[in-house]
Amino acid sequence: YQGVYPVKGNQDRFVVEDIVKFGSSFRFGLEAGSKPEILLAMSCLCKGNPDAFLVCNGFKDAEYISLALLGRKLALNTVIVLEQEEELDLVIELSQKMNVRPVIGLRAKLRTKHSGHFGSTSGEKGKFGLTTTQIVRVVRKLSQSGMLDRLQLLHFHIGSQIPSTSLLSDGVAEAAQLYCELVRLGAHMKVIDIGGGLGIDYDGSKSGESDLSVAYSLEEYAEAVVASVRFVCDRSSVKHPVICSESGRAIVSHHSVLIFEAVSADKPMVHQATPDDIQFLLEGDEEARANYEDLYAAVMRGDHESCLLYVDQLKQRCVEGFKEGVLSIEQLASVDGLCEWVLKAIGASDPVHTYNINLSVFTSIPDLWGIDQLFPIVPIHKLDQRPGTRAILSDLTCDSDGKINKF
Ligand SMILES: *Cc1c(COP(=O)(O)O)cnc(C)c1O
Repeated sequence: YQGVYPVKGNQDRFVVEDIVKFGSSFRFGLEAGSKPEILLAMSCLCKGNPDAFLVCNGFKDAEYISLALLGRKLALNTVIVLEQEEELDLVIELSQKMNVRPVIGLRAKLRTKHSGHFGSTSGEKGKFGLTTTQIVRVVRKLSQSGMLDRLQLLHFHIGSQIPSTSLLSDGVAEAAQLYCELVRLGAHMKVIDIGGGLGIDYDGSKSGESDLSVAYSLEEYAEAVVASVRFVCDRSSVKHPVICSESGRAIVSHHSVLIFEAVSADKPMVHQATPDDIQFLLEGDEEARANYEDLYAAVMRGDHESCLLYVDQLKQRCVEGFKEGVLSIEQLASVDGLCEWVLKAIGASDPVHTYNINLSVFTSIPDLWGIDQLFPIVPIHKLDQRPGTRAILSDLTCDSDGKINKF
């Protein structure tokens, strides 16, 4: 086993440097998916184990491929993984020009499909990788160029948060069969790179049904991969490959916590209406008075459904009165107070506290809006008390999207 860390998981320089440093004795490497990432990865891996892989994925132009080839000149163990057929021509041309013997991998589009929230890039219609037809053409072209021995790695990526080991076993078995076929066709295959997807139990449910959890442990994940690869390779009498993984979340999700303070809390206000305050309802216009009497009767009967209805009507009527200039601001406030009091009395009030926090320090928060990423948030005080308050965590800024109501 010889893993790599996909830099996109967290591109913070200090995180990447630590992974390289602590992974050095395990020949642990990095995966880059873009030009900026390969630059970061190259600079970090110069201090890593010389055998560690630098796996170059993603869309590649001449500049990206030149950088990857330059990596081999710098004695980095760079693998250029073809994601598109056209990249092969560039690799052949530039490696001859730069006089570098490249190590080539290819990314296969598997037929096995992960249909979960984070699986949209998988399957035959997925965005990345080569189809079976393209793989056959790439092998032929490499053979014609006398470079088939440079093809050494097979990569695939089922998607993030793989929900179950059965899906994983399926995908790995399909890829392992492809690997064996590449060996049969004469490639000097050494590595099967199973991509990312080792899931995180964000919501604590340990369930394969939830997009935010998975139904397996790290050991079960590893067991499923190794068993599938072994079974398929043994069937074809193919030497067992080095298994490489590109787990991102699984490596960095737990690496840090952010502790922040609720700067202030807005409690739902309960103003007690005194009979005095609402005297005007009895003296005011007919409609408001009728609404009030209906509400009063419903409260006395204990008829909760009608209470809700009459609270709405009374409020509406009084807002009308306010707009017409008949009710004063104090009177409108009294009506709100009365209505809240009724709702509370019948147990229908749902007070939600708003905790104001400073989210501007939380650079990952766009993931929460953009891809519905769940960030587990837990209180660190009063853990010996039963939580009984509903709350929203709200950003200090006046951006109305800046709130977290699921955590
Ligand atoms: C995103 C990605 C990964 C990392 O996925 P995780 O689910 O974070 O493990 C690995 N490889 C490729 C090609 C990716 O796109």
